Amino acid sequence: MNAQPQTRADWQTLAQSQAFETRAYINDDFVASQSGETFETINPATGVRLANIASCDQADADIAVNHARRAFEGGEWSRLPPIERKRTLLRLADLMEANKHELALLDTLDMGKPVSSSLGDMAGAIGCLRHHAETIDKLYGEVAPTGEDALGLVLREPIGVVASIVPWNFPLMMTAWKIAPALAAGNSVILKPSEKSPLSALRLASLVKEAGLPSGVFQVLPGFGHTVGKALALSMDVDCLSFTGSTQVGKQLLQYAGQSNLKKVYLECGGKSPNIVFADCKDLDAVARNAAAAIFRNQGEVCIAGSRLLVENSIREDFIERVLAAAETMQPGDPLDPESFMGAIVDEAQYRRVLDYIRQGVEEGARLRVGGEAIDAESGGLFIPPTVFDSVTRDMTIGREEIFGPVLAVFGFDTEEEAIRLANDTVYGLAAGLWSQDIDRIMRVSRRLQSGQVYVNNWAGGDQTMPFGGVKQSGNGRDKSYHSLEEYSDLKTVWVSLAT
Ligand code: NAD
Repeated sequence: MNAQPQTRADWQTLAQSQAFETRAYINDDFVASQSGETFETINPATGVRLANIASCDQADADIAVNHARRAFEGGEWSRLPPIERKRTLLRLADLMEANKHELALLDTLDMGKPVSSSLGDMAGAIGCLRHHAETIDKLYGEVAPTGEDALGLVLREPIGVVASIVPWNFPLMMTAWKIAPALAAGNSVILKPSEKSPLSALRLASLVKEAGLPSGVFQVLPGFGHTVGKALALSMDVDCLSFTGSTQVGKQLLQYAGQSNLKKVYLECGGKSPNIVFADCKDLDAVARNAAAAIFRNQGEVCIAGSRLLVENSIREDFIERVLAAAETMQPGDPLDPESFMGAIVDEAQYRRVLDYIRQGVEEGARLRVGGEAIDAESGGLFIPPTVFDSVTRDMTIGREEIFGPVLAVFGFDTEEEAIRLANDTVYGLAAGLWSQDIDRIMRVSRRLQSGQVYVNNWAGGDQTMPFGGVKQSGNGRDKSYHSLEEYSDLKTVWVSLAT
C-alpha cells in the first residue's frame, strides 16, 4: 500500500485494501444500532456496495444524548481550561493530517467526488480545526462600563449538547465546520452524517478516540434523517442544532425546535447563486473558465454553485462560446484518477433528479447548448456531463430551483439595474459573484446583492478567517471564523455588587 498515493493506480490500490468502520460511535465505543438495523452505502462511480452501516434511530439518539449530557455536566471537557482543549484539538488535527489520504479516499468512495477534490476538503477540514483550536484560548470576556458600586461581567459559556446534522457533498469538511467550533467552545457534540456518506465520520471517530477527548464529548450516529436526525432535532435535551442541508429540511428543523425545547437552530441551506459578468471584465477566457468551474466543480453538488450565469447581452454569445470551450475540458472521469475534474453523481435518486431537471429545461423552452445526456459509463456509475442552457427565464424551473448537479442556466441582461434585479430574484441568498473592472460598479452592486457571500472577480474565494453563511432561505448560521464560535456559546451576565 502506498502511504502517499499519487496516481490513479496508487489510489485504486489504497481503495482495494481499505477497511470500513460500520458501527456507531457512542460513549467511546463502536457499537451496533440498538435495533440491529443497517443500511447500505454504495460507491456511485461503480454501483458496488461498500458496506452495511449501523442505522441509528430514536433509541440510539436517547442513549447518546444521555452520555453527551453527562459528559457536559461532568465538566471534563466543558470546564477544561481552553488552552487544554486547544492541545487536544490540535492533536486531533495532527491525526487527521497523518490520515488525510485515507479520509479523502473514504469521501470519494462514498459520494463520488474526485479524489483531488477530497484532498482539498481535508486541507479545509484540518485548517478549520486548527483555526478554532488556536482561537479558543485567545477570546476574552467583557467587563461592562458600570459605576464603582458594581462589577459587570459578560462571560461566554458553552451551550451544552450540540447535535450537528450534515450533508453528503463535502462530508468531512462540512463536519469540521460544525464540530470544530462546537468542541472548541466546550460543548458535547453528536454528529449525524448523511446516510449517503457516513464513512469518513466514523473514521474520524476513531481519531477522536486516539486524540483523547473524554467519553461522551463526541459521538457519531449514522442513520436516516427521518429517524435519528428527527430524534435529535426533537430531543428535549439537545440544546443546539447545527445543520447544513436543504432548505426544505431546514424548515422542518425549525418546527421540531418549536415542538420541543426551543433549541437554538443554525441553518446553512441551499442556493441558486447568480454569477454576473459585465462586458467590461478583463480576460473573458479566464472569466469563462471560472464561471464553468463555479458550476461544474464537485459535479455541481455545491451549495454555492454558480448555477445562474447572468451575462451582459453585448458579449453574451461570445462569452457562452468560451464557457462551452471551458466546459469541454471539465468532463467527468474516474473519481480515483487525480486528473478527473468531475466525478460521479452521489446516488441514483440525485442522478434521476438532475436528469429530470434537464428534461424540464428542454420542455420549458430553454436552449440546450451542451450536455444533457447521462454518460453510459463502463464502470456502471452515475455520470452526467457539464450541461449548459441558454435563454433561460425566471419562470422556468431550471432558472428557479436548486438542481444540485452540473447544470448551468444562462440569462442575458442589458443594464446594471436589470442584473441586480435578476440576481436578487430568488428565495435564496447564499452566494453571488460579479466580474467587472469598474470599482464604482463593484461596490454599488456588491452592496445591493442579497447574499451572504459576494465574490468579486473570483468565485468561492475565502479562507478560515471569513464567515460563511446565507441570508433569506439560505439559512441563518455562520460557519468558519470566530463568528461561528459565537453560535456555540451563550452569554452569561454576572452582576457583582460592590461596597463603596
Ligand atoms: P438534506 O437536507 O436532504 O439532508 C441533510 C442532512 O439532514 C442529512 O444528514 C439528512 O439525513 C438530514 N435530514 C433529512 N431529513 C431530516 C429530518 N426530517 N430531520 C433531521 N434530519 C434530517 O440535504 P442533502 O441532500 O444531504 O444536501 C444537499 C443540500 O445541502 C443542498 O440543498 C445544498 O445546497 C445544501 N448545502 C448547503 C451548504 C451551506 O453551507 N449552505 C453546504 C453544503 C450543502
